[in-house]
Amino acid sequence: MTQDLFNKVDHYIDSLFVPDDSILTDVLDSTRNADMPQIQVSASQGKFLYLLAKLINAKRILELGTLAGYSSIWMARALSAEGRLLTLEYSEKHAKVARSNLQRAGLEDRVEVMVGPALETLPQLAARGEAPFDMVFIDADKNNYPAYLDLVVKLTRPGGLVLADNVVRAGSVLAPDKGDTAAEGARLFNEKLANHPRLEAVVLQLVGEKGHDGLAIARVKA
Ligand code: SAM
Repeated sequence: MTQDLFNKVDHYIDSLFVPDDSILTDVLDSTRNADMPQIQVSASQGKFLYLLAKLINAKRILELGTLAGYSSIWMARALSAEGRLLTLEYSEKHAKVARSNLQRAGLEDRVEVMVGPALETLPQLAARGEAPFDMVFIDADKNNYPAYLDLVVKLTRPGGLVLADNVVRAGSVLAPDKGDTAAEGARLFNEKLANHPRLEAVVLQLVGEKGHDGLAIARVKA
């Protein structure tokens, strides 16, 4: 199997299940125009997150890692008007682009972008009365994934979902190279996830236009 075939199959899936959407296309353009990395989830992954949020009737969603708001928009579209999505972003620049995209998507009343390192903003959420969340999507700096897991499990309701992107990293998670803190973070995260007493979980290996990676999905036990 080649990357070219993965791309073709992704396009085939998108043509069937992810109709053209000018708002989301503009979000992707905004990242290029602002010279930001193209590291958002794929269209079908966005649709998958949207479907999961709908399936559990999510009313409160937390995201770690906003970028330009692409995955935020997918998930926020699954919320009713009273729903809320809080997304944590380190970069002031990314947050500014995301806020503008969320406004264009008509979701500014439902979504808040909170700026700062997630390890500092996460502990403030309980005191702010934001928790418990129905669904959490971890997609920020991979080296901190193990620490994020401990914090978000405490903020997620029983029966709620915790998801984390990029936990396979083209297989580098099997034996991370020295200094590959992202792969090491993902490896430690997966081990912690597998052994967490309050979670039942699995990692789905994925291929597609984003290459070879994986998505972790966990349910908080009742
Ligand atoms: N979820 C986004 C999407 O699919 O559209 C993509 C997020 S991108 C993979 C990762 C984002 O996490 C970047 O915007 C980066 O600035 C942010 N980030 C990196 N370190 C962070 C930290 N310590 N706290 C919060 N955000 C961080």
